[in-house]
Amino acid sequence: MAFSATILTLYPPMFPGPLGHALAGRALEKGLWSLDVRDIRDAAQDKHHTVDDTPAGGGPGMVLKADVLARAIDAASPPDDARPRLLMSPRGRPFTQQRARQLAAGPGALIVCGRFEGVDERVIEARNLEEVSIGDFILSGGEAAAICLLDAIVRLIPGVMGKMQSAEHESFETGLLEHPHYTRPRLWEGREIPPVLLSGDHAEIDRWRREKARALTRARRPDLWDKFTGGGEDG
Ligand code: SAH
Repeated sequence: MAFSATILTLYPPMFPGPLGHALAGRALEKGLWSLDVRDIRDAAQDKHHTVDDTPAGGGPGMVLKADVLARAIDAASPPDDARPRLLMSPRGRPFTQQRARQLAAGPGALIVCGRFEGVDERVIEARNLEEVSIGDFILSGGEAAAICLLDAIVRLIPGVMGKMQSAEHESFETGLLEHPHYTRPRLWEGREIPPVLLSGDHAEIDRWRREKARALTRARRPDLWDKFTGGGEDG
């Protein structure tokens, strides 16, 4: 069974968006994964198709209603659905390459895109939604976050990336940020490709790349560097 993604959103036309192109788009066409996009508004039952209401306790903005969202979830995912249910949320556990790998190895995911101030807390509890954040910033809605999440997952589904595009050496897979890349011409605007990369000496090239990866990680991501060196060590 191919990886199956179901998206619950108030803006279905935002999908597949970027996921319909390039690597993810080709994999979608080939059936290596599937995408089912559903409009949360279809689960609204009053004549105005209301999906939100004012926050209990006051304050700005609106809140996505528990009953509407729960009906949308129930319609999209039977009780025996083995797929995790994710809610895109800046309060969630940060999404990582490791989580992307776990999800890519599983049956798929149901992904809820929030809007407004967020969703009624009770539906998060009652439908067992796992809150996932893509970073410490606030988007206007969960759709762009869901697209990021799926993009990261889909490229790891077996058969999506060719052998030549192996993910093994990429940033976060090794615990370090990746080394810089260069390609022809050798001289561009007075800047040379580092000569070692043209030397043909693969041991030297590996050493250079490892050193660059370490220096970059240390300068830009002290948090990753600490983890890589086991804390405190100079690596
Ligand atoms: N009031 C909320 C932010 C709501 S933003 C708060 O302060 O926590 C509206 C919707 O955008 C959220 O419900 C969520 O689905 C999505 N969203 C915003 N930022 C996000 C992020 N960093 N990661 C994942 N989803 C995000």
